[in-house]
Amino acid sequence: MQTLWDHRYAQRMQRIKASAIRELLKLTEQPDVISFAGGLPAPEVFPIEEFKEACIRVLNEQGDFALQYGSTEGYLPLREMIARHTSRYGIQISAENVMITSGSQQALDLIGKVFINRGDRILVESPTYLGALQAWNTYGAEYVTVRTDDDGMVTEDIEGALRAGPKFIYVLPNFQNPMGVTISLERREQLVEMADRYGVPIVEDDPYGQLRFEGKHLPAVEVIDARTRVQNGHYTGNVIYLSTFSKILAPGIRLAWIIAPPEVIRKLVLAKQGTDLHTATFNQVVAYEVGRHGFLDQHVKKICQVYKERRDVMLEALEEHMPEGVTWTHPQGGLFLWLRLPEQCDATELFPAAVKNKVAYVPGESFHPNGGGKNTMRLNFSYPTPEKINEGIARLGKMLKEEICA
Ligand code: PMP
Repeated sequence: MQTLWDHRYAQRMQRIKASAIRELLKLTEQPDVISFAGGLPAPEVFPIEEFKEACIRVLNEQGDFALQYGSTEGYLPLREMIARHTSRYGIQISAENVMITSGSQQALDLIGKVFINRGDRILVESPTYLGALQAWNTYGAEYVTVRTDDDGMVTEDIEGALRAGPKFIYVLPNFQNPMGVTISLERREQLVEMADRYGVPIVEDDPYGQLRFEGKHLPAVEVIDARTRVQNGHYTGNVIYLSTFSKILAPGIRLAWIIAPPEVIRKLVLAKQGTDLHTATFNQVVAYEVGRHGFLDQHVKKICQVYKERRDVMLEALEEHMPEGVTWTHPQGGLFLWLRLPEQCDATELFPAAVKNKVAYVPGESFHPNGGGKNTMRLNFSYPTPEKINEGIARLGKMLKEEICA
């Protein structure tokens, strides 16, 4: 049906297309399909009782405040809690360096709004987080890509990419979405050194860093950068760091945070005012009440136990059911792993056969801003139960054997 709006869409909407992937994923909503396609946390680990108690306490004790408009920067005690928590990892920051956003997705959008002019190049890993590309496409971003292997971003590629004059570098240091890989310490140091040498700042997106099941915690890129950049106790570095409560508490509360130098925070705050004035006061106060007495540390341990079991089940099932020539990453944390099919295979073309076999994944091509990755797919292990993971990987293995070994 035609309306008067038809010819009035802004030019920027030309870059925003309903993705083929989303259309494909609609097919996976049938209840008998086992889906490894989403990126949802396990609802079994949502701290429902803690939220219930906190909601009642907040409404009883500070309902007037929690239901009122709040400041754009965010609820101060929550920002202070994040600053204290971050300081444990060796970077001295204060609430002045912290702002609260409505999910990290909003943080990515605000970064686009504040920094990206049409035609600006952003240096990204290939593959990288699809949501960042979606946010930045609206602002007319172009992408220079570097490869990602099992040790994360390939630093050999960075120097060439930096010569293309990117506005900033976007990195996913831990258990990357989509591959599940982590950037090694040596590569983090090289990245900071090269970014510094070429004078290009870094956006570090780290929703999964705390969800490490094994191996040693690695310092954030921001922490490495900060070693040389703290003045009068304030972080003045080259990195904007993002993290979120989505994976350590619950995504439905839409709460995340940005850590950045105070001048950058001020610009982001101005941009946020026009977007939503501030993040929901009630959600911030409740999350603070849930988290304030060290609850998060014990809760993160519980999430890690559940996800580690699911990852192990998926790795074992892959060993058992995958045909020869298929390989996969072995993530030490997070929510995802990455499957590579033989070179000639196309995971998008295979998708209807997967759905016919009642199993779903995300074809890897969509995570590559400049193409490539046709023979790859992303699998999520946090949401399906171990039984579903076993059954789903068996179905996927059967489909792949039929299709690629035929
Ligand atoms: N960045 C990355 C790398 C993600 O994987 C996600 C969520 N899947 C986000 C940002 C957005 O997270 P949220 O908006 O829920 O905080």
